[in-house]
Parts: sequence; structure tokens; C-alpha cells
Amino acid sequence: MGPRCESNTCRRRFQSSTHRTSRGDVRRTMTPMGKPPITITCECGETKSVAYGQRWVCDRCHRAWNTQQIPAEEYEGLLRRVRRHKLEVVAMGAIAAAVLIPLIVVVSSGFVILIPAAMMTWLFLVLPVWRRRYRRTAREAPRWELHPE
Ligand SMILES: [Zn+2]
Repeated sequence: MGPRCESNTCRRRFQSSTHRTSRGDVRRTMTPMGKPPITITCECGETKSVAYGQRWVCDRCHRAWNTQQIPAEEYEGLLRRVRRHKLEVVAMGAIAAAVLIPLIVVVSSGFVILIPAAMMTWLFLVLPVWRRRYRRTAREAPRWELHPE
């Protein structure tokens, strides 16, 4: 076996990322992408979506709102529900692949014709149901009373 530079760079990249995530402050700045934003409605009627932990100063009346006033455990609960929905979709995809791939590889390549049907089922049956449930979770998200700073 010759020198494998590709796996080397991979490993190096992996190490640096685990090193980075082990430091709490950097991890916080790295993750807000996947987190549901918090919509703040100002007393003057302005609204704005911000990430949890962020501070927002209203453009119109200059009141300052701080999402850190939201108890961390309540926000974590919301995150858990959102994450569970995402896991459901991943799990359904994995199950479909776990059924289809062995059929095609082991039984017969003719089962490839099932893939369009599976994708149609996915698009028109699974995703709409899932989206509705996801939206309901978003609607049932708790409301918090913040106090301007
Ligand atoms: Zn305002």
C-alpha cells in the first residue's frame, strides 16, 4: 500500500473539528444553523427571527430583547422535538433503502423499477404528512414573555 494522502487529510480534518467542538464557546457559534430561530415580537409590532442566545435591538423603537431570558431547558425541549422529527425522516429513508437495496442487489435488478414508485410515495404521501406534523410542532412551540433590557 502506498502513502494514502486522502485518508490523511481526512483524519487531520476530523481531528481539528473534534478539537474545536470540545470547546464550548466555539461549538455554540458553529451550531445555530440547525436550530429553530426564535421570533421576537416587539411591543411596537416589529418582528424578527433570531437564533437562541442572540440579542436584538428593534429598528423602530430601539428596545433591546435578549433571548437568553428564555430558560435553556425549555428551549432544549423545543430542540428535542424538532430533532425527533428530523430523525423520523432520516429513519424512514433508511428503512426504504434497507428494503430496496437488498432487493435490487440480492434478489433481482428488476426491482429497480420500484424506485420511482418509492420516490412518488415519498414525495406525495410521506413528506406531506411529515411536513404537517412538523408545522404543528412549530405552531405548538412555547411562547415566552421577554422583558426589554
Ligand atoms: Zn420595537
